[in-house]
Amino acid sequence: MSKTIKAQVVVLGAGPGGYSAAFRAADLGLDTVLVERYSTLGGVCLNVGCIPSKALLHLAKHIEDAKVLGDEGIDFGEPKIDLDKIRKHKEKVVGQLTGGLGQMSKMRKVNVVNGYGKFTGANTLKVEGDDGETTIEFEHAIIAAGSQPVKLPFVPHDDERIWDSTDALELKEIPKRMLLLGGGIIGLEMGTVYSALGSKVDVVEMTDQLVPPADKDIIKNFMKQIKGKFDNVMLNTKAAKVEAKKDAIHVTFEGKDAPEKPVKYDAVLVAVGRTPNGGKLDADKAGVNVDERGFIKVDSQMRTNVNHIFAIGDLVGQPMLAHKAVHEAHVAAEVIAGKKHFFEPKTIPSIMYTDPEMAWAGVTEKEAKEQGIEYDAVTFPWSASGRAIASNAQQGMTKLIFDKNNRIIGGAMVGTNAGELLGEVCLAIEMGCDAEDIALTVHAHPTLHESVGLAAEIHEGSITDMP
Ligand code: FAD
Repeated sequence: MSKTIKAQVVVLGAGPGGYSAAFRAADLGLDTVLVERYSTLGGVCLNVGCIPSKALLHLAKHIEDAKVLGDEGIDFGEPKIDLDKIRKHKEKVVGQLTGGLGQMSKMRKVNVVNGYGKFTGANTLKVEGDDGETTIEFEHAIIAAGSQPVKLPFVPHDDERIWDSTDALELKEIPKRMLLLGGGIIGLEMGTVYSALGSKVDVVEMTDQLVPPADKDIIKNFMKQIKGKFDNVMLNTKAAKVEAKKDAIHVTFEGKDAPEKPVKYDAVLVAVGRTPNGGKLDADKAGVNVDERGFIKVDSQMRTNVNHIFAIGDLVGQPMLAHKAVHEAHVAAEVIAGKKHFFEPKTIPSIMYTDPEMAWAGVTEKEAKEQGIEYDAVTFPWSASGRAIASNAQQGMTKLIFDKNNRIIGGAMVGTNAGELLGEVCLAIEMGCDAEDIALTVHAHPTLHESVGLAAEIHEGSITDMP
């Protein structure tokens, strides 16, 4: 059965970018259609990304915390892992959120069309669904088709012991030995989960540090804190050969920390980045330029080279993060509705929800040097924080970066709840606060966020003696 419908706005893809754009467009009175190939809304983030990974990391943190509490007088004994229950818990969390999105679409009268969408012209999109073909004649389109994991040509991806992040989140088993191929955020988060569940986890990273964008002092602190959680962290090293054999996956390494012989793994998680889906939409039929990697270039109003077609989220460029997609979505929808709006944030925060967490926003010290910015970087060690000591978090640190006018331009943290604490730094950067604004803000005691105020006081030269 084929049918034709009309829309003022069609949104292609229902991830955080797509559903946010559709909801905002509908709220602004536009007749909106949301196209999604899967039966649930939420995209990578809600189904196989941000949310399921955090549900599992939450459990992993409890396991790790329970171990430490043994040293402090409360022994919970060895954890008993019930993988089926954990999987059900994760699915419940995901289901609650994706179900909520379905309700919200209905409430807003967003017409959800399920199926794979491709452009057939500058104002038409064809969706192939289980119940037939739908042609959508649109006035405006917002492309929000996201990204997918990068595959490596020398890796046998068809072997079921070779995982991407989606496979790792399925929690089919707890491998005895696991390799994280790539030392970035997604790999390390999943490695944290499997390490807590009992896997022995190795990491191989081509560059000279884990999470390459982070400052050296931050990552050094992180490395110190994760000692023992990962078995072998190989830096300046690459996996040169990955062979699927009957007994195991055999990996041959090359580089600084490479073991002499191939190492056997029960699972290899390939986490070397994500690639945009821009090249799979026949966007050229609508006249939209897509580069050779699949990215779509947009201006600060999220407009592509075609005036009435916008693009948002992972497929318009780095950083590939849900909160970036959501803000871009609001801009696109509002511009279509005739409002003046631009995407020009001073910072898009990055958080790694490992144990401990690592978080940063604004300019890193590395970037300040590269860009020739005159800056002062100050750090406040959590070993001087009463709350950190009381909560066994004293190994953490807070770092702030100020420009020559004492304005905050960056900040980073490593430690318990670093991701939550970063909010204050983001707001300070966005509002153009200087060190005095932050230092004079009364921070509650004893808290970990006091460390932000105290770091600002260090920059001001007026540090107090209040742990
Ligand atoms: P997506 O979420 O990729 O959604 C795109 C949607 O479009 C999908 O639903 C897809 O099915 C649909 N689609 C694609 N092509 C078509 C088509 N032709 N027709 C119909 N539908 C189509 N980000 C964070 O900010 N915080 C985190 O903690 C975080 N954790 C992550 C953990 C993991 C394991 C992974 C993999 C990612 C994580 N991310 C995180 C990244 C985050 O998931 C993405 O940045 C975000 O989902 C991008 O949103 P999006 O709307 O651009 O695209």
